[in-house]
Amino acid sequence: MSVPPLTNLSEDERLLFDSVLEFAESEIAPRVREMDEQAKFPKDLIPKLFDLGVMGIEVPESLGGSGATFVHSVLAVEALARVDASVAVLVDVQNTLVINAVTRWGSDEIKTRFLPMLAGGTVGAYALSESGSGSDAFALQTRATELGGGFTLTGHKLWITNANEADLFIVFATVNPEAGYRGITAFLVERGTPGFRIGKKEDKLGIRASSTCELLFADCLVPEANVLGEVGKGYKVAIETLNEGRIGIGAQMLGIAQAALDHAIRYTKERKQFGRAVAEFQGVQFELARAAMEVEAARLLVYNAARLRDAGRPFLTEAAMCKLHASEVAERVASLAVNLFGGYGFVKDYPVEKLYRDAKIGQIYEGTTNLQLQTIAKALLT
Ligand SMILES: Cc1cc2nc3c(=O)[nH]c(=O)nc-3n(C[C@H](O)[C@H](O)[C@H](O)COP(=O)(O)OP(=O)(O)OC[C@H]3O[C@@H](n4cnc5c(N)ncnc54)[C@H](O)[C@@H]3O)c2cc1C
Repeated sequence: MSVPPLTNLSEDERLLFDSVLEFAESEIAPRVREMDEQAKFPKDLIPKLFDLGVMGIEVPESLGGSGATFVHSVLAVEALARVDASVAVLVDVQNTLVINAVTRWGSDEIKTRFLPMLAGGTVGAYALSESGSGSDAFALQTRATELGGGFTLTGHKLWITNANEADLFIVFATVNPEAGYRGITAFLVERGTPGFRIGKKEDKLGIRASSTCELLFADCLVPEANVLGEVGKGYKVAIETLNEGRIGIGAQMLGIAQAALDHAIRYTKERKQFGRAVAEFQGVQFELARAAMEVEAARLLVYNAARLRDAGRPFLTEAAMCKLHASEVAERVASLAVNLFGGYGFVKDYPVEKLYRDAKIGQIYEGTTNLQLQTIAKALLT
């Protein structure tokens, strides 16, 4: 049996990619500048994303989702990121982290309760990081104390994507700080639960329309039925969903890189200096050629990791590689696009300075570049 090329999309993959890109170009592109300047995610865009079918991609049709694959999620994130990386990350967190964790670790009762909500209008968020625990995520301090039929959560989370839009939060807390990572437990916490509130929103360099906030818990009572997976096994929920989440971030970075390349090609073909289009200069052509090669390599890494995941094959190292490489390519190609736009690349009337700012986050969240290198090195050396 011949193996199809990695970048060959099946008919339904192509259909999804094209329809999401078309949506992004018509519904999001005209608002991108305002969203970035105001650092606001437009409320009315969220129901449109649900209608588009990108908020419950892997949720079975019987539970109200699209019943599609992880590759579809990755393609949706890439297509959105070509236009706006903030919208892309909202969809990415919803699918590759929240729905993924609920699907994988939820009991039948949790799945039938929460998946239709998530596919039908509820945005999710994933709350692991704290002020003192980022790369060393399992040093988290948020405390879960057992209290007749449930747990009370006390502590705070930092940097939580989608916090302003979400109604359902996966929150990691420890039931026993002395037990180290073996105390960590994942909880499903609904907005409005007494003792839980959203704190300060960060003012960021890039992905400014994506909300990133602090979460505050003070004796917040969560019923036992909302424990996701087993008590003390939250570290597994976190590690395994983040392995997949990283492929989504790779796709987000791929979308940014492709957009930067497309803008650079268009602009250099139009812009004239010394009586010729600047794209006619070999120095510019070589830079575009190198960027195109890097984008293609990033695409191969991202699609390969996603297809390995759907095939049920190991993908840990490939996921780390795709996120690391795609994030570096996004930064390099966006930087090149700024250079090739000259002075116009440095101002907000043109889209490339935002791509450059948006690319930076890819090397930080869901595991910094050093942590991806650590994962890859560990696989090489054990
Ligand atoms: C916009 C944004 C959105 C985010 N969204 C979420 C979210 O939705 N949910 C969530 O839980 N978190 C989220 N995060 C948090 C993010 O995952 C962390 O910021 C990230 O994991 C890094 O942690 P840190 O900021 O504490 O940096 P640190 O861990 O303090 O790292 C600082 C530096 O030290 C390096 N370093 C640390 N340890 C090592 C080591 N062992 N070897 C080599 N170098 C090392 C790092 O690579 C980095 O360069 C978000 C962050 C941002 C900025």
